[in-house]
Amino acid sequence: MDEHLLKILIIGDGNVGKSSFLHRYVKGQFNKTYKMTMGVDYAVKLLHWSDKEKVRLQLWDIAGQERFISMNRVYYKGALGCVLMFDVTSSASFLSCRHWKRDLDNKAMLPNGDSIPCILLANKCDLPQRVVPPDSIDKFSKANGFITWMEVSVKENKNIGEAMRRLVQKILSV
Ligand code: GDP
Repeated sequence: MDEHLLKILIIGDGNVGKSSFLHRYVKGQFNKTYKMTMGVDYAVKLLHWSDKEKVRLQLWDIAGQERFISMNRVYYKGALGCVLMFDVTSSASFLSCRHWKRDLDNKAMLPNGDSIPCILLANKCDLPQRVVPPDSIDKFSKANGFITWMEVSVKENKNIGEAMRRLVQKILSV
């Protein structure tokens, strides 16, 4: 049995749903008042990927440091994949994705020098007051080298597992 250890980053502006995402994905819960403490660096999830492979995901939440936008290199070190999240009801959080992706590409690289696989997640798609149109997301995703983008709702548990499967699949194939 092969076991892969994958460090995955979760980045994006504050309040877009990163901590909720981690909690939902790792624990299967959505808790409105849940907020990860600064002291917790990461959570771990074990996936039985195939008959021959296990995948241990080490998920790093930036837990309150997002106001700096530019992250410490230590945070990016050794990362093999990334989730960049924004909130479809906040155009500011979508506009920030440009900076987040640039920071990621500058600081996180695979051993061969390529940028690490990153999936763009449009969260809170359960809310009616969305302001970021799918066309804009699609254009941005294609122009900036994302694996793909997906609409998700951490609240309604929509597309969370599927998004992570796509990311892991890509990481294992590069
Ligand atoms: P973070 O600062 O990026 O870690 O964001 P949080 O996980 O703390 O979430 C910010 C707020 O958005 C919280 O009040 C969450 O309950 C809420 N939230 C997160 N995901 C969703 C979602 O999919 N739908 C809705 N309606 N609210 C969400």
